[in-house]
Amino acid sequence: MQYYSTNNKELKSDLKNAVIHGLAADKGLFMPEEIPALSQEFWQKLPNMPLGEIGFETLKHFFCPEIPEDDFRKLTDDAFNFPIPLFPVSDNISALELFHGPTLAFKDIGARFLARVMARFTADYGCDINVLVATSGDTGSAVANGFLGVKGVNVFVLYPKGLVSEVQEKQFTTLGQNITSIEVDGTFDDCQSLVKTAFMDDDLKQQLTLTSANSINLARFLPQMVYYFYAYAQAVKQGHDKINICVPSGNFGNLTAGLVAYKMGLPVNRFVAATNINDIVPKYFETGVYQTAPSIATPANAMDVGDPSNFIRVQELFNKELKTIKELIDSISIENEDIFSTIDKVYKKFNYILDPHGAIGYKALEKLLTDGEHGIFLATAHPAKFPETVEKIIGKEIKQPERLKAFLNGVKSIEVSSKEYGMLKQIVINRALKR
Ligand SMILES: *Cc1c(COP(=O)(O)O)cnc(C)c1O
Repeated sequence: MQYYSTNNKELKSDLKNAVIHGLAADKGLFMPEEIPALSQEFWQKLPNMPLGEIGFETLKHFFCPEIPEDDFRKLTDDAFNFPIPLFPVSDNISALELFHGPTLAFKDIGARFLARVMARFTADYGCDINVLVATSGDTGSAVANGFLGVKGVNVFVLYPKGLVSEVQEKQFTTLGQNITSIEVDGTFDDCQSLVKTAFMDDDLKQQLTLTSANSINLARFLPQMVYYFYAYAQAVKQGHDKINICVPSGNFGNLTAGLVAYKMGLPVNRFVAATNINDIVPKYFETGVYQTAPSIATPANAMDVGDPSNFIRVQELFNKELKTIKELIDSISIENEDIFSTIDKVYKKFNYILDPHGAIGYKALEKLLTDGEHGIFLATAHPAKFPETVEKIIGKEIKQPERLKAFLNGVKSIEVSSKEYGMLKQIVINRALKR
């Protein structure tokens, strides 16, 4: 399959180039040239398919034969290796728990798949690939854990000193091996701008092959469609036929994956794109004006995005027609107060502990579902990742999953950089050439 740039349909690329470079040469995002419909046979077999097999059957249309089918089957089995249960929280709302992976957030799914695809493509590349990623918390840990131990790839995680939570920091700074964590004396924006400078530095690019691992990479968002199919299969078993899916959204990669699944034939009644008070998309739905803005900090910080990078893909899937988009998708913004009161209420009423992102999904469904409708929200992170917020509300300690404890007991090892580019560059070069 070929992939085209959202800036120019004629500018096409093969899979390998699209994955290694992430962005098209004209800075557009890559989209698959076509979205195939899944066969009758697939739908018949779906109820009994394990997650890895759903991954293989749906993603092979995009990744094979560039990756031979036998290898790809192993790759999907290995990438999608943790449970994703659909848990009924109330009579009409269920949680799709995406947080049972290594770093307890849904980004593990895309990151694990991306790492394995990239490793395949770098194997015959002749030299190491260096992944640079700036993080405000969650992305760094998912990417670092996804790539941990992958041959031929070095990962550099840049994070702002003192501005990520202890839990988040430990999840990437204790790994070692091919992962280098760089504490930057600055803000997240400084980290991001250092990464951007590195990508534009011809001198550096002559010495090293650089790539990024954020959700603009098609091999990071496409694998996320797997759990939409899996959610549907479980919902049918639980007695629901038409599903409404609510996606807590920041950069809109997750929603894009769901929409691709829909285009392949997934029966969804309606999608809900829920945001926090960074309400660029809900405002666009309401007014028809798309106006980006600086991001505002909220308790659901992984969704603090004022310029959602993947929304262009959503538009692309519907020929940029807002009217058509609105026939399938609702969008709503949830206030901070509602995040807190929803965590409180759902715990008291149903004994279920939501994290701030999942709370946004739950609340949005509560507001938008009509009588008799069933809704599924994507529970994107484990509440134990946000103890500062959640424990205060529910009034007790959250039990930490074992793998989180293991991180917390690990020994931190970091490099330290100022926000001045020269220093960062030297660290990257030293580490990359030493390996
Ligand atoms: C990244 C993230 C989101 C937002 O997902 P997008 O694909 O960027 O819309 C939501 N919740 C959590 C916990 C996240 O880490």
